Amino acid sequence: MNCDLLIKNGYVVDYATNTEGIYDIAVTGGKITAMEQSLNYTANQTIDAEGKLVVPGLVDMHVHASAWLGGYYGHEMLIKAGVTSALDMSGPGKSVFEIARDHGAGVNLATIEYMRPGHTVKTEDPSTEELTDLISKLLTEGSIGIKLLGGHYPLTPEATSRAIKVAGELNAYTAFHAGTTAHGSNIEGMLEAVELADGYPLHLAHINAYCRGLIKPAMEETQMALTALANNLNISCEAYLSPFNGTSAEIVDGMAGSLVTRRCLKTGGYSEDAAGMEKAILEGWAQINLPQGDEVVLATGAVARDYWKSKDTDVTVSFTVNPITPRVEIATAKGANGKFLVDAISTDGGGIPRNVLIPAGLALVDLGGLTLKEFVAKVSYNPSQILGLVSKGSLAVGKDADITIINTHTKEAYATIVNGTACYLDGKLNKQKGKIITTAAGADYIKNFGLEPLIVNISESSLFTKKARS
Ligand SMILES: [Zn+2]
Repeated sequence: MNCDLLIKNGYVVDYATNTEGIYDIAVTGGKITAMEQSLNYTANQTIDAEGKLVVPGLVDMHVHASAWLGGYYGHEMLIKAGVTSALDMSGPGKSVFEIARDHGAGVNLATIEYMRPGHTVKTEDPSTEELTDLISKLLTEGSIGIKLLGGHYPLTPEATSRAIKVAGELNAYTAFHAGTTAHGSNIEGMLEAVELADGYPLHLAHINAYCRGLIKPAMEETQMALTALANNLNISCEAYLSPFNGTSAEIVDGMAGSLVTRRCLKTGGYSEDAAGMEKAILEGWAQINLPQGDEVVLATGAVARDYWKSKDTDVTVSFTVNPITPRVEIATAKGANGKFLVDAISTDGGGIPRNVLIPAGLALVDLGGLTLKEFVAKVSYNPSQILGLVSKGSLAVGKDADITIINTHTKEAYATIVNGTACYLDGKLNKQKGKIITTAAGADYIKNFGLEPLIVNISESSLFTKKARS
């Protein structure tokens, strides 16, 4: 037998089929066509995976890949980090699609459109009618739904609740960085978000970000968050493992424009204005996301300050605000039924330099916090099902050949295979145009962009149908 691609002797771990052991995998036409302990195939390309870990392609359900947040670099950074599919968590859609077309590296990418007063919605209290028109329109423009940016640019609680309901009725994907005009991006805001969802499907972003000890001790907040998730299965969620966040360094009318950024400056002992930001950059508390070569890196000092000023302050900045204990607890905690309370490990990376699914996820395996199969559930199977990617997230005959091969010694991706093509292999890029994950309503728009749509049905995704966490 002949196949396009043969992966030999890898240590295969698959959660969905409960498989773990040494297997050969044959790929033809972008699909897995055979998986057995030994395959006697000829192949156009063979990858020797002996001594390496072979898992379903990593799915990162919280990344940034628009011009705002390092998007030009994000695609390459993601593919090098082993990610095969991802959800861009803010748009703007047009920017995400342009960058995917011109700078794509192979990653399948979905996007959701941000809700911001004065930008995409008129005020902080948009009506049901305005929201219905807006969400219907953005679905036809390739986006799979909306991102409520409450923590940064809040809507009223009432409008937030309306937006979640309208999106749910329209079978659109809804993600929420908790926070409204009534509560901030903290544990109070998170518990409010659960209330406002009122049983509708909601992707609640980066659970760890609400458990930084701003209101109560961090681990007490962590328990409050996990209890709320145990009791509200309409909420799908992820958390990231990086110690630092990513937010806007933009100065608006003399002050940090984002509420999150203001709080971070305050936490570090700096004023919330332009002078405070400049001092924080120079002294190393505010780490500017600085393009360098093909990637974005963290930078401080005069170089970072000058870059921030040269971009009229409209750049991304990171602050080390995530304590270690909540991050580990949130990534590993299970409910009384033995199921995970937080569905996925994400990175909130992409163009923000923290694409650490492999090193941080495997560190939890080393610590005994996750089994290898559970690692696969958290970084591939669960997020793929939440996004409606029913033929991804598992290594089995007939599934899409999205496969990540990991060097377990260096904890780096050795190969990132998307739709049967090795887009990254042994340190070398083989850039492809990735597909855009969209709904049936957005397919034509994506084609007109010169991109290939990958159509999902959000109403059949586990975001909408979940009865129990896995
Ligand atoms: Zn984010």
